[in-house]
Amino acid sequence: MLNGLVCLVEGLLLSDHNMADYNKFLKRFYKFKSLPYQKREVLKKIKETYEQYANYKGKISQSKANKLLLAEDLQKIYKKIRERTLTKNMEGFLIKVWEFYKKLFSSYDLITDTESELLRVYIKKRFPKPFENMSWSAAFFEEKEKKLYGIQPGICFLVKHLNPVMSPICLAHEMTHAAISLNTKNKDVRKSLWLEEGVCETFSLFLASRIFKKELIKNIIKYRYFGWKSKHGMGDVYEESFKRVSLLYKYYGLEGLCELIRGGREKILEVEKRLNSYRKLPLPIGHWDKKVDELTDFVIVGKSSLVVSPLAFYISRNIKVGDTLKSLVNTCNLNKKETENALKELQFNTGTIVYNNGKVMLDSTKIYLKTKMLKYKNG
Ligand SMILES: [Zn+2]
Repeated sequence: MLNGLVCLVEGLLLSDHNMADYNKFLKRFYKFKSLPYQKREVLKKIKETYEQYANYKGKISQSKANKLLLAEDLQKIYKKIRERTLTKNMEGFLIKVWEFYKKLFSSYDLITDTESELLRVYIKKRFPKPFENMSWSAAFFEEKEKKLYGIQPGICFLVKHLNPVMSPICLAHEMTHAAISLNTKNKDVRKSLWLEEGVCETFSLFLASRIFKKELIKNIIKYRYFGWKSKHGMGDVYEESFKRVSLLYKYYGLEGLCELIRGGREKILEVEKRLNSYRKLPLPIGHWDKKVDELTDFVIVGKSSLVVSPLAFYISRNIKVGDTLKSLVNTCNLNKKETENALKELQFNTGTIVYNNGKVMLDSTKIYLKTKMLKYKNG
């Protein structure tokens, strides 16, 4: 169900914030879940929180810097939510998007049977057994799962993960799986081919770019791939496949990308094998789209942010060459011990300053702040 937390996440996805750790943010503000999906209540709570966080006394320590920076980010989120028209009927909205995507798939000759059960969407409280513990936000099931576990084929969304900003992008990804599956002749070829995930991610950029602005999609890419990673794992393989197929798009255009979908898993498998042995690919070339060009560039050159502690981020905005620990601590009202550690962190962990003998000798933090590469690890 839509609730206050969903609304907060919408604002987060739309805003140009500086935080790096989204899981921590969601944990910290989990209580928003008890609020209704309603602007007035959510905005009131956000305002109360950022006013409380911005109101501090005493010297600025790590935990105070964390609250000050969160207060700034919450204000940005507040503005985005205030400007936004909330989606009241989430299911109705998703159906509209689904119909629109189906038309796009048809017009590019990617599916012939638009009434196939593989394309149907259903919303559940949990995934059917034995997938009930999986951490996916949506899933695509096909004949294989039906045969093995009696699962209804189609695209399954979890009600708790429905979100007007993220769900249309997940839907685009899952519908691409469905189209690939429909075009696959040998139904025994499984969908867990990594290149297929990359095709779904890249093609979802094209589909989503027809309903969302580029900036919003970029924010989602940042959110999914370029934030702080406390753990490395499956997400990295998705990211790598996403970059690989985005590069394929650069060379082969939408023609090449569509051919990968039209050819089903047999084609994807063949291309993956050839890619792995650096052989020429059997793909047509042509048809580039301006929006997809920009988004795939972003995917290819994008990288994880440079993440520092809240106090290091806070200090980076204020330091300049020639500052001493003493002058910084006094002018910015900082906790001395933690400031010294934060300066060393900027020097040794990120290489963005040279700090020697209690003095800032070189400073390149402003470049990273300007390019939005520097983020703080919010607690
Ligand atoms: Zn997938």
